[in-house]
Order: sequence, then structure tokens, then C-alpha cells
Amino acid sequence: MSELAGKRVFVTGSGAGIGKAIAALFTERGARVVVSDLDALAAKQAAEEIGAAGVANCDVTDETQVQTAIQQAVDLLGGLDVLVNNAGIEVSSPLLQQPTESFDRIFAVNVRGTFVAMKAATPHLVESKGNIVNIASIAGIGGSPLLGSYCATKAAVIQLTRVAAVEMRPTGVRVNAVCPGFADTAMVERLVPDFEAATQVPFGDLVAAKQGRLGTPQDIAEVTAFLASDRASWITGSHYVLDGGLTAS
Ligand code: NAD
Repeated sequence: MSELAGKRVFVTGSGAGIGKAIAALFTERGARVVVSDLDALAAKQAAEEIGAAGVANCDVTDETQVQTAIQQAVDLLGGLDVLVNNAGIEVSSPLLQQPTESFDRIFAVNVRGTFVAMKAATPHLVESKGNIVNIASIAGIGGSPLLGSYCATKAAVIQLTRVAAVEMRPTGVRVNAVCPGFADTAMVERLVPDFEAATQVPFGDLVAAKQGRLGTPQDIAEVTAFLASDRASWITGSHYVLDGGLTAS
């Protein structure tokens, strides 16, 4: 029996990249997954490709949309066992030159989006004794030039994870985070020109020197699947670093 068989799962930002890989792996392992994204076409295509249970789209910056999408998923699946907060954006800018509107925007997606989805899912997760996996980043642990506001949002996601885990422990709901290094998605492709301009070193060389290779979305999905499964029943309030050793030295 697969470790995720029968689990009812909602994944934000799962039309592409890491979220799509999570939705695909969970489905492959027997979960019933509702795909959700800001990009409705990407979500539809991803759900068809994966064989997902359904689609319930939302922009995570809109609390009403998030509440509605989670309720749609609950209605479709007959409850909810796992919420994966994956939707996120990056901004590349020297911190103190970043326009304040763009600072507000990245917090609205990465932090507030995670917060409102956790709130909306909580009553359902309490009922199922389910769990939450938040996709944070190694950027939430160490500071990175050009990624200041992104680092701050991911540090906030780690703290939301810890506090929610402690507060929800009596209910049996677990809350964990994963912290990937650089993984091969459109997000990293967008960042590459800025990193190369800042360091004068080809991004591939930097990654090979420090991380061995880029992570794959599947690398992240594997650990997310483990944390969401009953095999991780004693793990809560934790954040797992997946970075090919980038931050080990
Ligand atoms: P991506 O840009 O390839 O995909 C992100 C997906 O989220 C897209 O489908 C996009 O439409 C969706 N999205 C964006 N804003 C949204 C919103 N407001 N509401 C709903 N959906 C929205 O990014 P990715 O690399 O797959 O990143 C996924 C998560 O992993 C993010 O939280 C990111 O910060 C985190 N992460 C990525 C890396 C990496 O190297 N790729 C490393 C560490 C952490």
C-alpha cells in the first residue's frame, strides 16, 4: 500500500514547477490531489497531465479566493488531509533599492498567502488529523545578496511553520517546512541573468561548485511526500534542508 494512498490533498501554485511535481508524485503514490494556481490554463493542463482529482484555482493573495478554493477541494474530496503551501514568487533586487510596492507584493504572496491558506484549511485538518507542508527555502535560513525580501519572506514561513506546529500539537495536526536550494524551475531561470551579472560567473558553474547540480522539482516532492505521510507522524515544527550540501559548509 502506497504511503499516500487515499490522502486528500490541496497544493497551491501547482500549475508548474515544484508544485506540479508535488501534485504529480502525490497522485502517483495514491493521493487524490486538487491542483490550484493563479494561472488557470497551467492548472488545467497540469491536472490533466497528472491525472489529478480536480482543480480549484486561487490567487493566494486573495483570502476569499483561498477560502473558496479550499472549500471546493473539501467538497470534491470529501475532506482534507494535506495542505501544501507552495505558491511563491521571487524578486531580485538589492534590498534597499527594492520598491516598497514590490516588497509588499512578495510578502502578500509568500507569507500572507501561506497564512490565509493555513487558516482556511485548519478546521478540515483538525477533523482529519492531517498536516501542512510549507515550501520555504534555504533563503529563509541564510541571507543572500539580491534576494533580501525573498529571504525575509521565507524566514517568516519557517516561523509560521514552527508556531502553527506548536499551537496545533494538541489537535494532532502536524506542520512542517522544506527548504530547497536552487532547483531547476522557471523561477531559477528568471534569476540566472541577475546572478551572473552580480558575480561575473556563469550560474551553472556556481551551482556545480557549491551544490553539485541543480535540484529537481522531484527532489523537493520526495521529501514533501515523506513529511505529508504517516511515516512522519512524530515530525512537526521542523524544516528540512534539501540543497545538495550548499549550506553545509
Ligand atoms: P515557479 O515560478 O516555477 O512556479 C510557481 C507557481 O506558483 C506558478 O505556477 C505560478 O503561477 C504560481 N503562483 C505564483 N503566484 C501565485 C499566487 N499569487 N497565487 C497562486 N499561485 C501563484 O516557482 P518554483 O520554483 O516551482 O517555486 C515553488 C515554490 O518553491 C515557491 O514557494 C518558491 O519560493 C520555492 N522555492 C523554489 C526554489 C527553486 O530553486 N526553484 C528554491 C527554494 C524554494
